[in-house]
Amino acid sequence: MAIPTSIDAKESVRLLDSQEFCQQAHRVVDFIADYYKHIEDYPVLSPVEPGYLRRQLPETFPTYPESIEKILLDVKNSIIPGLTHWQSPNFFAYFQTNASTAGFLGDMLCGGFNVVGLNWVSSPAATELETIVMDWMAQMLKLPPAFMFPTNNASHGGGGVLHGSTCEAIVCTLVAARDKVLSKVGFHNITKLLVYGSDQTHSALEKGARIVGISPQNFRSLPTSAATGYSLQPLAVQAAMADDIAKGLIPFYLCATIGTTGVGAVDPLEDLGLIAKRYGAWLHVDAAYAGSACICPEFRHHLDGVEHASSISMNLHKWFLTNMDCCCLWIKNTTTFVSALSTNPEYLRNSASECKKVIDYKDWQIALSRRFRSIKLWLVIRAYGMDKLKEHIRSDVMLAMVFEKLVKADERFEVAAPRRFALVCFRLRSDSERLRSMMNHKLLEAVNSTGKLYMTHTVAAGAYILRFAIGATLTEERHVRAAWTVIQEQARLLLTQRAQLL
Ligand SMILES: *Cc1c(COP(=O)(O)O)cnc(C)c1O
Repeated sequence: MAIPTSIDAKESVRLLDSQEFCQQAHRVVDFIADYYKHIEDYPVLSPVEPGYLRRQLPETFPTYPESIEKILLDVKNSIIPGLTHWQSPNFFAYFQTNASTAGFLGDMLCGGFNVVGLNWVSSPAATELETIVMDWMAQMLKLPPAFMFPTNNASHGGGGVLHGSTCEAIVCTLVAARDKVLSKVGFHNITKLLVYGSDQTHSALEKGARIVGISPQNFRSLPTSAATGYSLQPLAVQAAMADDIAKGLIPFYLCATIGTTGVGAVDPLEDLGLIAKRYGAWLHVDAAYAGSACICPEFRHHLDGVEHASSISMNLHKWFLTNMDCCCLWIKNTTTFVSALSTNPEYLRNSASECKKVIDYKDWQIALSRRFRSIKLWLVIRAYGMDKLKEHIRSDVMLAMVFEKLVKADERFEVAAPRRFALVCFRLRSDSERLRSMMNHKLLEAVNSTGKLYMTHTVAAGAYILRFAIGATLTEERHVRAAWTVIQEQARLLLTQRAQLL
């Protein structure tokens, strides 16, 4: 058999041929559109067993090209059954990651161009568009001008960058805060640095602190309670910091959360900001989930005090119709930030960077390479406009109010934490906490195993709490009401079973 020459092989499968690209891309778009059309037919939580996929796919890789039709057939038969359907209107777990047509189209452009805007010259539009949309977002959120890029003759030096995740934003701000302090007290004093948050702060803070070399015993997780809505108490922070300073330690980073992951609590920025200032700590605001809501005037007050913060981040892939991934991070003092993260290897030197008039985003993040995320956000903002974006947030909050009312109207249940946004925390009532945890855990498993909806839980101050997070793009009132009916029915079965046992 003749060995094909490389030229023959190239002719049989072209790798980036415009016509072929068009045909195959259309096929994939049709496939995804069909997926959305039938998304309600699937069990929301995937019912497969661990290892299911290895039993279905060939043991070894293909040697010869396969057709897109054949591959899509496998996606349909083997991949989709193993998906938990985050875009299902019956998805109420974690926090949603809401997709939209504009977000998807933006991602297509990002993937289509496939440029790497690591510095300005490597793709000027990628960098410049990012600075523009970051300023647009800052305007929508009414962030203080100190977080925006300086206009020609302004003296402040703020700005924003798009990361892939909050974890990354937290690590980068921790590094900047760490190096700022260590430049004064000497690197050997890293063992004295302390990080503060609450027991409701996202685990990203603990992980980030570990990554930047803070020992676990220098991580302060201050307790919260139901009585104060699970928010971080300024007096507790003040007392902890004063106590630690008396021991010769150095508080250097405080994380406040707007909309905690567990119960959606809001930490009081104004007071925490003053304390951070007093002790010279970097205040980071993690608004991963609820930041998006603050474009609406009725929610903006949650950001009051943000002017005291050194940085703020939010995940637009959660609640801003921007497909995964897109995390906005704004920093007030970009000089400190960039000096902590910059490198200057010979192979990247260029005249634009040398004259220091441009932004090189490689110095604003961990990795060197980066996606053209800003084009996705630009599409979302332009295709929907501020009006539609606000309406989107408000309609989710309205649905959460509907659900909250349903919970309150059923005396077997109670609302378990104040509802601030579109997350409703609730549980079955019971006399003892032990019994209540067990019953609610059973209820959660029973509800999720119906496949009709998916929700998750948290534990706050020792209490087991069910979370109903509304925000999937396709969710309508009928889905929320139907979900409640399923929850009520499963509760009825559970309570009847229990009564028979007693
Ligand atoms: C979701 C969430 C995070 C984690 O975000 P990643 O982008 O996955 O790192 C952090 N903080 C809060 C409050 C969140 O809700």
